[in-house]
Amino acid sequence: MAQEVYQFSLKAIEKMKKEYLNVQTPPPPGAIFRAKTNYAVITAYKSGKVMFQGNSPQKEASQWLTQTDSVNKPYPQKRAVAVNEPASDIYTSSHIGSDESGTGDYFGPITTAAVYLTDEQIPLLKSWGIQDSKKITDEQVKILAKRIAESSIPYSLLVLHNKKYNSLQHSGWSQGKMKAMMHHHAIQNLLKKIPCLPYSAIVIDQFCKPEIYKKYLASENKQVLPKTFYKTKAESFSTAVAAASVIARASFLKEMDKLSENLGYSLLKGASNKVDQLAANIMKTKGETVLESCAKIHFANTNKAKKLIRMS
Ligand code: MN
Repeated sequence: MAQEVYQFSLKAIEKMKKEYLNVQTPPPPGAIFRAKTNYAVITAYKSGKVMFQGNSPQKEASQWLTQTDSVNKPYPQKRAVAVNEPASDIYTSSHIGSDESGTGDYFGPITTAAVYLTDEQIPLLKSWGIQDSKKITDEQVKILAKRIAESSIPYSLLVLHNKKYNSLQHSGWSQGKMKAMMHHHAIQNLLKKIPCLPYSAIVIDQFCKPEIYKKYLASENKQVLPKTFYKTKAESFSTAVAAASVIARASFLKEMDKLSENLGYSLLKGASNKVDQLAANIMKTKGETVLESCAKIHFANTNKAKKLIRMS
């Protein structure tokens, strides 16, 4: 089943509703109306989002993208924008998912993974308990990541270590841009491993607006890969994204263990007051520069830690 999604003005939706009066079916919660034609099922939401789903959604939608309304203004008043959300049936078909870890943690790198799952592997991984890594313990994350690594599931993993992170940040990269480039490269690396395998979509756990993602990639002369979709909280919908979140998290945990061993300090996750105190202790005993290789310096924790040292 194909799908087209557009943003319309509420005025335009009212006009559509009248036009489809004779073919309306009961609307789902939150919808203004739902109608069914030979080409598509049309569902219009209060947010202005209108979905056309069926055999020829483009045919059904196109009439609304070119019409003018009664006061002869072209509408949709803003140019109709396709919403880059995946259709729900992709989550049960073969697809790629990507997710990252470590972005909110003062200590440690950012890790990003991309995973390819076939439609047959999706229920299998669900049965293993693969879900959003934030909802399972670190121990479970490690066990599940090992299980994925030992299976034949293709995936790719990238680690952005703190030194590189800090130098990119220093040269003007936002964390969002770093994430965008990591997702892009992780997905590309995965695609190189599976050149012949079919997939219905690439689902990115959404961390910024699709236009911004595109802009970040364009600034490094890269283009968004075909069939890329964005979904917030994608781990809850896509098992491939959930698997990617598990692999990325396990890698982050492993890197944190390595850093802790090298430093002789048990590094803490997150960015809490305890992290400030730990950063202060590390600075006092090892000097400030050591943070360059184990922390995200631009986080507020750095200055808070310095303050703690001055006060002690
Ligand atoms: Mn995520």
